[in-house]
Amino acid sequence: MSITNSHVILLVGAGPAGMAVASSLAKAGHEVIILNRDIKFGGLAEYGIFPAKLKLRGGLKKQYWELLQQPNVHYFGNISIGKGKDLTVDEVRSLGASAVVFSIGAQGTKAIGVEGDSAQGVFHAKDVVYHFNRLPGFGDRSFEMGKHVAIIGAGDVMVDIAHWLIRYKKIERVTAIVRRGPSERKYNPKEIRMVCANMDLQGITTEVGRIKDRLAVVGQNADEVLKGLTDEFTKCEPSVSDTKMGFKFLASPKRILVDANNRVRGLEMEENKLEAKGTDTAAVGLKQYYEFPCDSVVFAVGDKVDETVGLPYKSGMFVTNPTKTSNDPDDSLFQAYDEATGKILDGVFLAGWARKASEGLVGIAKRDGDWCAEVVSRHLAIRQPGNDAKTVLDKLTTILKSRKSHPVDVQRLRALEAAEKAHTNTTDCIGEFKYANNQEMIELIERGKA
Ligand SMILES: Cc1cc2nc3c(=O)[nH]c(=O)nc-3n(C[C@H](O)[C@H](O)[C@H](O)COP(=O)(O)OP(=O)(O)OC[C@H]3O[C@@H](n4cnc5c(N)ncnc54)[C@H](O)[C@@H]3O)c2cc1C
Repeated sequence: MSITNSHVILLVGAGPAGMAVASSLAKAGHEVIILNRDIKFGGLAEYGIFPAKLKLRGGLKKQYWELLQQPNVHYFGNISIGKGKDLTVDEVRSLGASAVVFSIGAQGTKAIGVEGDSAQGVFHAKDVVYHFNRLPGFGDRSFEMGKHVAIIGAGDVMVDIAHWLIRYKKIERVTAIVRRGPSERKYNPKEIRMVCANMDLQGITTEVGRIKDRLAVVGQNADEVLKGLTDEFTKCEPSVSDTKMGFKFLASPKRILVDANNRVRGLEMEENKLEAKGTDTAAVGLKQYYEFPCDSVVFAVGDKVDETVGLPYKSGMFVTNPTKTSNDPDDSLFQAYDEATGKILDGVFLAGWARKASEGLVGIAKRDGDWCAEVVSRHLAIRQPGNDAKTVLDKLTTILKSRKSHPVDVQRLRALEAAEKAHTNTTDCIGEFKYANNQEMIELIERGKA
């Protein structure tokens, strides 16, 4: 990346994608101002990745701290962008930076769209994940799960939730509800090690036997499929509970069944068959229904972006430029685009899960951030710098003061981290101690204790 002038870039969202953008652009000599909803940086690396994965989280944290120590990187935690938030999208754009990058992740909840989904005991996976990761707003809320939890989904997030239920909640039973068959599972075989000591092998064998004819139709041999599934149950983490984990395959929830108090008592499920679809398969409902008893339901079916932020939005995604470029990476994929005017939002870019919701692990988000930084650099290379950093920062702090916002800078973040590390009572937390609400953190900071 070669630059002739130093520009100011406003970056909204300090998760893995945003931090990658910030790192590349800061290295290239630009001034990077980061605005982040959470007091702490890291996004899902802080509040999504399972809290016991201390090595992965610690490694990322170390890199992010190093970045934030750079004199040309300015961090404003506890600042949300959106309608009715600390600043609107238009206000951020009018601060006069040369580019604004939104790397705010996928904060929206995919509509579950099943009758009864507002019943007590129905949860969206992200909320549960935020709860056990102690994201402010979720950490100190109660999540009553009951004895038998049905998790809809077959990806890594399903496994993380099962992990929490088995190892920490120690409930009786967890069932993963899977639309297609065992061969179409999406989780990483390494992740299943966290829970495989608790697998109900007899129940799983019976379940695969139950669907063997429907597997055969698409050329899948049930014995081989079962072997493929259970062979991955190796190097299991030792069991710490009597929880049994099983699967329900070829099953689509159609309705949440509730008791007189509007509390989940089960699911109405439709049986599916598999049909070949190119090299893949598709699930097709058979219009045969049955009741599946459970105490709560967690939908782990992916996320969508937050349409209330104020960026052009369509069908779960922020809209990007439909006109492809010949550049690699293709600029259009990262440029925000307004379909109403038919124009790109000049100087506004998207990266990471804000661009492609629920797409991949941290490494993929980082790569997306790197690509976005290349696209932004091309944009900067043909422009004169806008306002200088001091002007942008002065304008920003004036607005934040007038809104009575409470931005948290890096120095305060360091002190907060030291205060958390000094805590010895970690009984409410998995892994490390974390304050579970913003109020507590802000009070600590403002009392000068952090
Ligand atoms: C449950 C779960 C477990 C996972 N486990 C793993 C794992 O074990 N290993 C792995 O490699 N990957 C894992 N991932 C994937 C990984 O977390 C993501 O790939 C990555 O975090 C996406 O990065 P991002 O920067 O695009 O978004 P995010 O990480 O979501 O970051 C978004 C940032 O934007 C900020 N923000 C949001 N809205 C606003 C707003 N309106 N204004 C200002 N700031 C805002 C947030 O505060 C946050 O800091 C997991 C994901 C989930 C959901």
